[in-house]
Amino acid sequence: MENCLFCKIAAGIIPSSKVYEDERVLAFNDIDPQAPTHFLVIPKEHITGAGEINEENSSIVAYIFEVIAKIAKEQGIESYRVVTNYGVDTGQTVPHLHFHVLAGRDMTWPPG
Ligand code: AMP
Ligand code: ZN
Repeated sequence: MENCLFCKIAAGIIPSSKVYEDERVLAFNDIDPQAPTHFLVIPKEHITGAGEINEENSSIVAYIFEVIAKIAKEQGIESYRVVTNYGVDTGQTVPHLHFHVLAGRDMTWPPG
């Protein structure tokens, strides 16, 4: 999608610190990390956010969790949090579906 930051990152137009890539998804380090490990996993296909998941595109979400588990195993990360923000109240700043993967420090619950 035109003028979408994460579509541009997925297309390689804007560089990223890549963690994993295949034909469907890209994982890259967050530019403003909130934990020692903080990467984002995005579908290459533009989906605005969690509220736009439907019958047609939902398989990508299962696949993203598969990829997250694979990356975590490869990196020896045994404990992690996965977060997705949707809508202004949650602080979503990039309107392209993305899952934050955070690890490497104690985390509070509820997240605030
Ligand atoms: P959210 O606030 O949930 O929409 O998350 C957007 C995330 O994207 C934030 O954690 C930002 O730090 C991160 N971010 C923004 N621009 C970039 C970029 N160019 N490369 C990597 N991460 C980015
Ligand atoms: Zn996009």
